[in-house]
Amino acid sequence: MAANVIPKETVIPKETVIIDNVLRYPPSGLKIVIVGSGPAGLLAAIECWRKGHDVEVLEKSPTFSSIGDIVGIGPSAWSTLHNYPSMAKEYVEVGIDALMTPCHLDGRYAMEPFEFEYNREGVAEHAAYPFRAVGINGRADLTRILLNQCERLAISVTYGVSIVDYAEEDGFGVAISDDGKRYQADLIVAADGIASKSCKLILGEPVRPVGTGYTVYRAAMTLAEVRDSPLVKQNLATCERPEARLYIGQNRHIVVVIDKRLVSFAITLPNETRGVAQESWSSTISAEELLGMIPDVEHLDPLVVELINNFPNDRIVAWKLCMRNPQSKWSSEGGHVVQVGDSAHSFIPTSANGATMALEDAISLAECLRLGGKKDVALAVKVHQLLRHQRTTLIQRVGLLNRAAWHQNRADNILGVRKLMPQGKWMWGHKPERYVIENFRKAREHIETGAPFENTNLPPGHKLEPWTLEEEVEKEKLGQVFDLSTNGDWGVC
Ligand SMILES: Cc1cc2nc3c(=O)[nH]c(=O)nc-3n(C[C@H](O)[C@H](O)[C@H](O)COP(=O)(O)OP(=O)(O)OC[C@H]3O[C@@H](n4cnc5c(N)ncnc54)[C@H](O)[C@@H]3O)c2cc1C
Repeated sequence: MAANVIPKETVIPKETVIIDNVLRYPPSGLKIVIVGSGPAGLLAAIECWRKGHDVEVLEKSPTFSSIGDIVGIGPSAWSTLHNYPSMAKEYVEVGIDALMTPCHLDGRYAMEPFEFEYNREGVAEHAAYPFRAVGINGRADLTRILLNQCERLAISVTYGVSIVDYAEEDGFGVAISDDGKRYQADLIVAADGIASKSCKLILGEPVRPVGTGYTVYRAAMTLAEVRDSPLVKQNLATCERPEARLYIGQNRHIVVVIDKRLVSFAITLPNETRGVAQESWSSTISAEELLGMIPDVEHLDPLVVELINNFPNDRIVAWKLCMRNPQSKWSSEGGHVVQVGDSAHSFIPTSANGATMALEDAISLAECLRLGGKKDVALAVKVHQLLRHQRTTLIQRVGLLNRAAWHQNRADNILGVRKLMPQGKWMWGHKPERYVIENFRKAREHIETGAPFENTNLPPGHKLEPWTLEEEVEKEKLGQVFDLSTNGDWGVC
């Protein structure tokens, strides 16, 4: 039987609150300040509001940012979407329901296009069922629909607030902005992305980014911005579905997405020596520079070359692919400051799961806080970390192993894409809210008394192995490919 947890002090609703067709739990009395309006911060705000917490968001950008290209998002991230009918409608409108199309570098199809794993015939139900899980979103579309939902729920999002430090005092968390203003709350949620300023309080020092040896050159534009692109237009005219083309070559890979909403590319190459690339969405290079760096560019699919040539010079981002070793903890000593999303765990794109894990975090944290209640914020935060840490750490490693596998010079590589990018039911069938409901009590007992507890949001039978980023990068350099999908059940049924 699922161990349904009734919070110690169940709050009896004094009235039923439904706004924008979203049913809200009774007020928990918890005040939460969220730093960062990326996917993690915005969904945390929405989910916390639904769970009855009083919430506001602070964002350093002066206004909503449409910077970015595409993000891959699995169904687990949308497992609570049915609670938000207006957002659900927008999700359906903006999604990119692409077929994966493995290609040789010269553009020939390497195999028949195929569906993302969770959309294939005969597999288990995914976590967002009965929604059609679309797999890809424009990053700006994603944050826009989350922001729209915040606005409909009257959640305050304040722009132009740059948080430079975090503290705990008198049983509260504090976020301190660059102009010295102090924002106090029962819980401060640091959803401020990689290089979060909260690391100083939580870990005693910033987390060191480790270069993974590669740079990704990426850009997106809407169809209206596409100028002279006969090949892109021909593709759109002839393909019934959007395409996510995956080109795999020795020591490099390219992802191109062609959809009526936007077209994008992401070209991953070994680091160039001039060191232009940074971990920043504002370090850009020109089309000419990029074309000059691609080996055998004369044999590259003309469609990719056409796309590159179509981007204005300030639109191609050169992003140095760094990662951070799994962090030992995500929350401060007193439990009043907690990290979610990239601030807690960063990914490289080949994990295809960074945004998914950020959104899962948001769902998990909001429910842990509901079950902990105002009295047990610190405990709720600890439970959240216990339930999430092993899962995100494993998926961080998957990203590194996927890339190492793709970049081998093996003739069978491209045909093995399905095998080499394992996901499995454990990944896309996971429902973070339900998982908290079913495991909160056991996790709490484990924290309080040391009673045994094992996470079940991993591949069944999986034996966790310690790993470091430095070791994985070294193995990749030596061409050592390691198939994690033999460790536990990564099956789809
Ligand atoms: C502008 C931008 C564009 C992106 N585009 C893509 C993309 O195209 N493809 C992709 O795969 N990933 C992209 N990402 C990263 C992706 O969104 C994340 O990897 C993932 O979705 C996890 O989201 P997150 O909310 O944890 O972090 P993020 O998406 O990084 O969001 C963090 C938020 O916190 C804000 N912030 C940072 N520091 C502070 C501070 N000191 N005070 C207040 N606010 C702060 C940031 O402005 C941002 O809004 C982008 C991130 C950003 C910030």
